[in-house]
Amino acid sequence: MKNTGYLRPQSLAQAQAMLAKHPDAQALAGGQSLLAAMKLGLCHPTHCVDLQDLPELQHIKRHPDHLWIGAMVTHEAVANSEDVQTWCPMLAHLAGGIADPQIRHVGTLGGSLANNDPAACWPAGVMACGATVVTTQRDLSADEFFQGLFTTALRPGELIVGVKFPRITSAQYLKYEQPASRFALVGVAVARDIQHKVRVAVTGLGHGIVRWSEAEQALNGQWGVRALDEVLAKKEGALSDVHASADYRAHLMAVLCRRALAQQTGELAAMPRVNRHGANPASRTPEAPHNAGCTPEQTLSGEHVLNATLPRVWQALLDPVILQASIPGCSTLRLLATHHYQATVKVGLGPVSAKFETTVQLTPEVEPSGDAQHAQCRLHVSGQAGALGSGQAQVQVHLRQVGAQTRLVWTADPQLQGTLAQLGNRLVQASAQRLSEQFFERFSCALSGEPPRRGAWFFSYALFQPLHRWWQHFFRK
Ligand SMILES: Cc1cc2nc3c(=O)[nH]c(=O)nc-3n(C[C@H](O)[C@H](O)[C@H](O)COP(=O)(O)OP(=O)(O)OC[C@H]3O[C@@H](n4cnc5c(N)ncnc54)[C@H](O)[C@@H]3O)c2cc1C
Repeated sequence: MKNTGYLRPQSLAQAQAMLAKHPDAQALAGGQSLLAAMKLGLCHPTHCVDLQDLPELQHIKRHPDHLWIGAMVTHEAVANSEDVQTWCPMLAHLAGGIADPQIRHVGTLGGSLANNDPAACWPAGVMACGATVVTTQRDLSADEFFQGLFTTALRPGELIVGVKFPRITSAQYLKYEQPASRFALVGVAVARDIQHKVRVAVTGLGHGIVRWSEAEQALNGQWGVRALDEVLAKKEGALSDVHASADYRAHLMAVLCRRALAQQTGELAAMPRVNRHGANPASRTPEAPHNAGCTPEQTLSGEHVLNATLPRVWQALLDPVILQASIPGCSTLRLLATHHYQATVKVGLGPVSAKFETTVQLTPEVEPSGDAQHAQCRLHVSGQAGALGSGQAQVQVHLRQVGAQTRLVWTADPQLQGTLAQLGNRLVQASAQRLSEQFFERFSCALSGEPPRRGAWFFSYALFQPLHRWWQHFFRK
């Protein structure tokens, strides 16, 4: 290794002056790529200009129209930031899925973008969100910034200061990772902005981040997995190497795109199951990808017979007062628009107590009219539990009149992100099932004007005890 000078500026202006004075110097962020490249003799900067003391590059801040993440913010800080989790949970989960804890604690957003590794995760998140990279000289759109294999629009001496992420209504990133490094063999980010414009960004496919325009076009026409049925995963530009053939990379792109989309639209239940044991090798479904913190597919369901006629049950489902009384742990419920509510719900998930800021959108699909014996509605529930993570569920409710009673059948596909998702499948499934049971227990009481029965609480306590034991056992391991 050749001798290299080490410079430690205390302001952005000083850093720029140092880089101007030493044209062959290089900025040093966490050194995760730069130092390795230097050790391998791949680059020989005369000086490393360490950016760690520059306050301008260190913070995360929410603005009315964008989220700011400074260039020197580490992946770990992004993953744990409440601001990021609230603004766009996908970014927190993307950062939390990078490499291992050591790398996440020193690797930075700016370093990752400037490096523009063809299999890195950050370029996918930045590109799918249509973010703006702010440098010491200008603002660059993601499309302008990334220019192929390890290449960006950065000029000599130009530094990334931070990234502006616009508002996004929904986004997901999934990668099928290399087991050794956790870099993406292929990773796909699908994001939908507030104008409902969709961007699909693919990393790991070829020589850098690319947008999949055919998929974007199809999803702009129809926001759902079916829109992708006719879209062919093109192999042009896909890389063949020791890790995967171009065919396989293109196949992964298509599968991950569908899954990333299905997690947002609630269509997971309709997706093919992951082939873990090679039962159907012809389908070549990949092993479970890193799913950015979401629990794998799991559909919950239940059936209840209610002592009321179909029109009465329907009316009660649309009544915010009955809804609030039925949701376990609901302290406030505010009407935002017709059938659109905002609620604060405290949920006991095993030994963890999480307070969810929740929105519930109810969509009547088949209304009871005339002699019709059935009705149907859909609820989209989305909740944020701060640093613990977030969750969403699509709940499908079918009602059928049977004599003087109504049979109610529901299915739900809860998905959790962040720490909540790491609680483990069985625990999450049991808790979600319990909450759903409690909801209908309370709903049934509210329908008949009774207070909730003691049995509901007993049921929850009886379930809580084995869960708590399981939790303690889990942490003693
Ligand atoms: C084993 C391993 C596994 C990894 N797995 C993943 C993964 O799964 N997904 C993923 O996305 N990434 C992964 N990474 C990449 C890692 O997370 C870092 O993001 C990346 O290596 C950049 O490191 P750094 O931030 O320390 O930047 P450095 O290594 O310090 O710098 C990298 C380059 O960026 C330049 N630079 C740094 N900051 C700036 C700035 N503000 N302005 C202009 N130029 C700048 C430097 O001059 C240098 O050229 C992995 C890395 C390793 C070593």
